[in-house]
Amino acid sequence: MKIKRQKQAKKNISFYKYNFSFREPFQILVDGTFCQAALKNKIQIKEQMPKYLMGEVQLCTTKLVLNCEQMLYGAKLILQRYQVRKCAHFKDPIPASECLLSMLGKTNPHHYFIATQDHTLTTSLKEIPGVPLFYIILNTIVLDKPSEASLDYVQKVQLGELVSPTQQESIRSLKEEQGLGPRDTERRPRKRKRKGPNPLSCLKKKKKAEPTPPKKTEDGQKKKRSRHKRRKSSGVVTAPAAPHQ
Ligand SMILES: [Zn+2]
Repeated sequence: MKIKRQKQAKKNISFYKYNFSFREPFQILVDGTFCQAALKNKIQIKEQMPKYLMGEVQLCTTKLVLNCEQMLYGAKLILQRYQVRKCAHFKDPIPASECLLSMLGKTNPHHYFIATQDHTLTTSLKEIPGVPLFYIILNTIVLDKPSEASLDYVQKVQLGELVSPTQQESIRSLKEEQGLGPRDTERRPRKRKRKGPNPLSCLKKKKKAEPTPPKKTEDGQKKKRSRHKRRKSSGVVTAPAAPHQ
């Protein structure tokens, strides 16, 4: 079970790395509900997270979450050890879930993972592409599979890549029909290419022709001399070469 869980996590992490450029240390925003669940299940978040993600981890929370009135004392003690990210809601308190959502915006530009047991929060988090979610179930931390929004986003990007070359081709064909843009741009690189190979080939010929004959004779003589010396020293004297030098 553990190996399966690890494999699934690895697959999901590489999804976020590849498609949403997540990098170590992974930023994990933790809220009070997750901390309480960890306490109940005797899970050491700080120990488990790096093992589970197989990488460096930065656990953090927000100023508002830390000062939430509903927070239980045990959970608060855990969160106090994490990095506290500033947010704008300290003077006018809002629900912790709204604070965490505000940290992500529409695109999660800071690449936060979110660790929460708040189901209403997770449903709204799943609408933002590129937000990996942790939850605790059956005494273990689980990284949720990518949301539909994340998968849709990736698919759109991939489709965009497929469409763009065909659009480029249609633009080229239109320009060719007009007979203005493409011919000029095509002629220039051709001229450059013609200029390019000639000096390179000349240089190669010069290098091969001039320096090779003297080098061969010098190297050969030197090598022969050194070989003789080595043979004599190794053959006549049985003791190692170090004391002679
Ligand atoms: Zn806040």
